Formats: sequence, C-alpha cells, structure tokens
Amino acid sequence: MNETPRFAVDRMLARLARWLRLMGADVLFDPATGGAELLRRAREEGRVVVTRDKRLRTAPDVIFLTANLFREQLREVLDRFPFDPRAQAFTRCSACNTPLKWLDRNLVARRVPPFVFASHERFACCPRCGRIYWNATHVSRALAEIDDLLAPRPQPTI
Ligand SMILES: [Zn+2]
Repeated sequence: MNETPRFAVDRMLARLARWLRLMGADVLFDPATGGAELLRRAREEGRVVVTRDKRLRTAPDVIFLTANLFREQLREVLDRFPFDPRAQAFTRCSACNTPLKWLDRNLVARRVPPFVFASHERFACCPRCGRIYWNATHVSRALAEIDDLLAPRPQPTI
C-alpha cells in the first residue's frame, strides 16, 4: 500500500470526493472549479485529477473514470492508486478536507446531542468548519463498506 494520495476531484463527483476524504485522502473539491481551472490547480498542488470529463481523458496525471456507479468509481480510483483506507479513515473533514483534531471530551458536552455525548468517548473536530465527528454507527458502516470494496473480486472466466 502506498502513501495516501492527493486528488483533485471533478465537481460532478461530489459523493466520490466525500468518500475519499472519509478514507483520509487529501481531496481538492470545489463546486465552483471545473475543467481547465481544476487541472491547473491540480498541477500546482501536485494532485491527481479524478474526472469523468472525456476531454481530459488523455491528459497526464488524470484518472478518467469509466464507471457510472459510485462504488465502481471508488474501486477504479483504488485500483490506480492503492492506499489503505482504514489506516487514515476519519482523520479528515469530509466537508472541507481539513485534518481533524481530537477534542477534550469536556469541550464537546454542549455541542453534541446529550445521547451522543453520553455514549461516546472520543470526539474530533474540524478546526476550519467546526464540524464535530464521533465514532457513530455510520462510521462502522462506512468501514464495512470500504472492506467490501477492497475484497478480492472473482476473476472473470474466459
Ligand atoms: Zn471541516
């Protein structure tokens, strides 16, 4: 497994961008940035562009996705840039890409619903947008889904 890669994800692929961030990848994603501007910023910042834009198909450092379905798209990305999604999972804000910081539990009490506070030990916060993360059910579900995606595929018989 390689180091977690840096991506610039096409604005058409919001769900993929969010998931790659949940897996800890550094993802540039901006709904206001498309095409040539995305390519330019990706080059400046040393990122691999992930896109379904046919015009970018042959550009270097571009992953052109052929799949329509989100799960297959994620698989295509991981095939090209294998990294361990579990190693870095939930270290980065899925909304704004900022690395999360652990919070002192006492600072969280007023900022999350009481049942959440009562039932979780560890909380992390995005220092940029203030979003708070905890190890909720959706985290386990997401990790299960990641495992499923990474499971060996049956080889097609010829
Ligand atoms: Zn954030």
